[in-house]
Amino acid sequence: MELADIQAALGSAQPAFRARQIYDAVYRQRVANLAAISSLPKDLRERLDQVFPLGMPTVERQYDSADGTRRYLLKLGDGKTVETVWMPAEGEADRATICISSQVGCAVDCKFCLTAKMGLERSLSAGEIVGQVLLAAGTAPVDRINIVMMGQGEPLLNLANVIKASRLLMDPGGMAISPRRITLSTAGIIPRIIELGREPVRPKLAISLNASTEEQRQALMPITRKYHLKDLMEACREYPLRPWEKLTFEYVLLKGVNDTDADARRVVRLLAHINAKVNLIALNPGPGIPFDTPEPLRVAAFQEIVKRAVPCFIRKPRGLDVYAACGQLKRMESALVPLTS
Ligand code: SAH
Repeated sequence: MELADIQAALGSAQPAFRARQIYDAVYRQRVANLAAISSLPKDLRERLDQVFPLGMPTVERQYDSADGTRRYLLKLGDGKTVETVWMPAEGEADRATICISSQVGCAVDCKFCLTAKMGLERSLSAGEIVGQVLLAAGTAPVDRINIVMMGQGEPLLNLANVIKASRLLMDPGGMAISPRRITLSTAGIIPRIIELGREPVRPKLAISLNASTEEQRQALMPITRKYHLKDLMEACREYPLRPWEKLTFEYVLLKGVNDTDADARRVVRLLAHINAKVNLIALNPGPGIPFDTPEPLRVAAFQEIVKRAVPCFIRKPRGLDVYAACGQLKRMESALVPLTS
């Protein structure tokens, strides 16, 4: 609920400042339930707690990686489960990235991604998206967490809820996470990219490019048959970046498929005239994924070529041992660590 939603739910019987008190408690102080809002009169607090459960997801399982990454399997109000990943920064105790899901499963069907094998079960509400952050962040300070909308699902196929969630995450009077610290990644739903660009409050944008030619991209990402690479790149060139912003391109490297020097040179040409940066991701393997991971030397050679034209980084896989890395979110059982708290 945004402030206006809370005002509407309380009705006119309550003074106007009550809604703000509740909003502040839930999003800024991050209380566990409405009964814990000590600034409210006791009887109101108890009544509210009964009528408005906070609706937070609950931890069904958690899987802890040797590298400190934690994959949560979270249970939603209707019993469905979805994944959220907590990645502590290496060498910096209090900094972390939280990877959140926008849907249960995914409809996009990329051939290298495990989530595709689930199909789409349903979209998440704005509350379920924000709830993942509240749960995973705990009391971590907002200026030390980055949020990536890169978990299960295609965020731009759930745009209204993703935008509402973004407003809640970024509201300076609430959770107050800077727009520079939130990134949404899309497989390339062109009309929705244009819509997102018109939103006054929006996260940064990342595009999953993953191929250097139209044919290659159609084979790897069937969505390209509907939304052509050529049109995607045009939408990217026209995307209204803010002065401080770059457009990120993710590129999954598949051994012998899209990882040659010629591919790297084509990527550079595609990105001409875009204020871009590139994140290379060497394939994270999974059961039933018919591709191999390129050798580190190949990845480095690819980076070297792209880097001459555009800033280019290699994304280090996190939580590989517990199926927490990019493209691995499919509610897999592995290395189960019993709940301690
Ligand atoms: N649906 C959105 C959000 C998911 S982001 C999107 O497509 O952007 C997940 C990122 O991981 C994407 O950039 C995707 O290309 C990448 N990815 C998917 N499967 C992968 C795998 N097996 N190994 C490495 N990266 C993968």
